[in-house]
Amino acid sequence: MSLTWFDAHCHFDFSALDQYRDADWSLAHSMGLSGIIIPGVSRQQSACLPEFVQRHPYCHRAVGLHPYWCEQHRDADIDWLDAHLHHNADKGSVVAIGECGMDRHLIKSQGISWDEQWHWCMAQIELAERHKKPLILHIRGAHDEVAAELKRRRFAYGGLVHAFSGSLQQGLRWHELGFALGVGGAMTHPGATRLRKTLSDLPLESLLLETDSPDMRPAFIQRAENSPVMIPLYGALLASIKDHSLTEISAVTQQNLYRIFPSLTVN
Ligand SMILES: [Zn+2]
Repeated sequence: MSLTWFDAHCHFDFSALDQYRDADWSLAHSMGLSGIIIPGVSRQQSACLPEFVQRHPYCHRAVGLHPYWCEQHRDADIDWLDAHLHHNADKGSVVAIGECGMDRHLIKSQGISWDEQWHWCMAQIELAERHKKPLILHIRGAHDEVAAELKRRRFAYGGLVHAFSGSLQQGLRWHELGFALGVGGAMTHPGATRLRKTLSDLPLESLLLETDSPDMRPAFIQRAENSPVMIPLYGALLASIKDHSLTEISAVTQQNLYRIFPSLTVN
């Protein structure tokens, strides 16, 4: 029986993948990958995605402003996202808002303050509420704060907490809030014992496979750029961590995908 896979978070439009994209997709597709979700990271890049997705019809897109690119973001970008979502509402062509979120490491490494990140994160949560869309969240060192805020708002549209590496308790809280946890390259590293234990304890219904390509290279490849080709291998690793069959991992993660991103079913 052939299995189906999906990369729930992949920056497949980034230029670092230009030389690999076609070959990577044809290999990934031959291994059962059926699609990819590409997050938005800035207004300019979000505006380029419709054309990219048209040329690569197995890709689905989000729109959003990533905390790494805070310097580029302007309040007018939120208005642009709002108008873009209105124009594209009927087609279901935008599957989520994000990649948005909070990254505590950026305060020191790039001097992007907590308050500045919070401003863009909240503006995008409000957009998701207004347009009834799931969120794609980038969270480092801020699980408790963002989860508490979404709970306070009674945020009802769920989403993906991508590249999850929090505790079991944090993971369960996200699951209760209607969010899935993105699982990928981090679990492949020999030292990631705590993460693998957390994943073995979390319900399979809370997990989605993702690569975050070209980033988050797994422990077992040489190439500098990660690839969606890794997804079936991540599926196999997750099957061994959770002591489930590969068929079950594939089937349940597909169900999770359509539950979290319902507009994928109308595309
Ligand atoms: Zn990302």
